[in-house]
Amino acid sequence: MKTTAAVLRSIDAETHAGLQVEEVELALPGAGEVLVAVAYAGICHSDLSVVNGTRMRPLPLVLGHEASGTVLEVGDNVDDLAPGDHVVFSFVPPCGRCEWCAIGRPALCTPGNAANAAGTLLSGARRLSDSAGAPLSHHNGVSAFAQHLVASRASLVRIDPSIPLREAALFGCAVITGVGAVLNSADVTAGSGVTVFGLGGVGLSAVLGARAAGAYPIVAVDMVRAKLDLARELGATHVVDASSGDPVAAVRELTGGGTPVSIESVGSEKVLAQAYAATHVGGTTVTVGLPHPERHLSIPAISLVAEERVLRGSYMGSAVPQRDVPRYLDLYSAGRLPVDRLVTGMLGLDDVVAGMRALEDGSAVRQLIEF
Ligand SMILES: [Zn+2]
Ligand SMILES: [Zn+2]
Repeated sequence: MKTTAAVLRSIDAETHAGLQVEEVELALPGAGEVLVAVAYAGICHSDLSVVNGTRMRPLPLVLGHEASGTVLEVGDNVDDLAPGDHVVFSFVPPCGRCEWCAIGRPALCTPGNAANAAGTLLSGARRLSDSAGAPLSHHNGVSAFAQHLVASRASLVRIDPSIPLREAALFGCAVITGVGAVLNSADVTAGSGVTVFGLGGVGLSAVLGARAAGAYPIVAVDMVRAKLDLARELGATHVVDASSGDPVAAVRELTGGGTPVSIESVGSEKVLAQAYAATHVGGTTVTVGLPHPERHLSIPAISLVAEERVLRGSYMGSAVPQRDVPRYLDLYSAGRLPVDRLVTGMLGLDDVVAGMRALEDGSAVRQLIEF
């Protein structure tokens, strides 16, 4: 079938001229795969990282990895989804059989991540091609900047049809990454403090997760005033403007030597070093940002031992999407995770480049493409 998609053909970090909306050909779902009509797709910083060349993916590729939609058709061997079901996407398709899946860490799934790196679905297939018949890569098994997509069953989480698809889209990346970092990776407990560096969709989700967990204080750090104001409305008890003065000194002073947990969501090794320094002795620094692969972090090595510090990476919020997406959606429905506040703009697919720019210049938190 024909559908319309945002295709990234080349990297031009300045103009993003290699990102264009085209008519593409989508093959029908194979065994274990599902055809979905995309409802909403979020523009995430890791989409921008692919567009500007920070995160290498095989091109040409149909972008987008955070979305919601409605099942249109299921392939052979899919017996637990039916047309009309509402779904959210997981950006690592877990195989369910490898060592990592077996121990409950599907974000590290070996075949799932190999498929993502190769730009294929979990089966190894590509179901996308351009109008000339040349194959197009899938983005993290999702490729949601398109009216329709085919994904592995493993990439889908069925959700309650009463949940608005608009907000549901955010649970595939921003919410599962930010809330998961707090609840799964950092094990935040009520009354213990959290500092969040970087207040995009993921960082503000971490603020919401910290609030839902009963953390105190919750310190939010960014360079954009509007994001600091939003963080305060969402539950941050203190804010630090990193554009004026040393944010590490400010956090340490506000909290009496730092909080037991810091979350870094910028994808900058410099900010990660700040987050590490702003964490209390004996505390845990969790990083969810994706820096350029050539960047190296510099921290005082002695501090890991002598101060019993923990530095922890968290991919996809160390989450189990089939478990955590429904849980977090329940919190949302109960009013305890108001992620609708993260949406700062609604766009059409044709506005995708403008959306990337708004993310770049810091004027947007989460923008949703509406189909
Ligand atoms: Zn993302
Ligand atoms: Zn696996």
